[in-house]
Amino acid sequence: MTITRQATTRQERRAKLKAEMAQVEKRGVHADADAESWWWAVAAQARHLIDGLRGDNPTRAGDAAQHAHDFFETAVKNNTPDGPVECAKGCSLCCSLYVTATAPEVFCVANHLRREYPDRLEQIREAVKSADRDTRYMDADQRLNFRLPCPMLNAQGACSVYTARPSACRALVSSSLRACQRGFAGEDVSIPRPTMWWKLRGAHTFAMETALVECGLPVHHYNFNHALRIVLDDETAELRWLSGEDVFANVTRDVYSEKTQAPAERESRLKMLTAAAMAQELPEG
Ligand code: SF4
Ligand code: SF4
Repeated sequence: MTITRQATTRQERRAKLKAEMAQVEKRGVHADADAESWWWAVAAQARHLIDGLRGDNPTRAGDAAQHAHDFFETAVKNNTPDGPVECAKGCSLCCSLYVTATAPEVFCVANHLRREYPDRLEQIREAVKSADRDTRYMDADQRLNFRLPCPMLNAQGACSVYTARPSACRALVSSSLRACQRGFAGEDVSIPRPTMWWKLRGAHTFAMETALVECGLPVHHYNFNHALRIVLDDETAELRWLSGEDVFANVTRDVYSEKTQAPAERESRLKMLTAAAMAQELPEG
């Protein structure tokens, strides 16, 4: 599962990357594409993020996450789901689950809140602080049983940061509302899900991880409530993080990557993706 290594000139590699970048901007990624096309789309998306992260805009981390989310949504529109989806506005049972997000995704939510709700910021900050205080040391199972709604949920049961919500939320869909209801009532049921969203989330995550590695920034998935609290409490957090300060040093990190794949496999994938994203020769093997 890799991009084929071919003897190409730098000019040819650049032309290929440019074409792939135009394609992902227009269509996102095809969930069932062959491995070669899929990985090229991920590398091209990573390059978009790298270019954004290397700019001088003070909100470039949050903007990179918004670009990643737009890529995801473009792909959702251009793919056909492999099963029905019963999620609907107003259903928010899953908005009490444990959420993790990369640093750019957290900045993206905070920037959205500052832009859209300047008059309610203090109230939102208090809600996030309270949710963090109640849940900081809980794992995913404890969060499931605790059932504390996300502080981003509004009174109508809708996400108040919908367009900026983390990829973990975007990818969580269900083919059976009934199964979700039974699961959240404590029954041991498996919830049927179309796989398309998980494949697209994979592309979103791999591209973001590649861009962060290439830019020398931390690649972690943080406890969302705690990380958001830090960023809402300090307007300089994004700039400090961009300049190398680990503002999330005390925040619990997910072990997502380590759980789902061997570190060696992850490292070799990141090497391949960064080389492709920078139009360099692909590494051996
Ligand atoms: S995943 Fe389940 S609980 Fe969440 S919105 Fe969809 S149907 Fe509702
Ligand atoms: S950020 Fe939005 S979608 Fe995600 S858990 Fe919170 S309310 Fe739900």
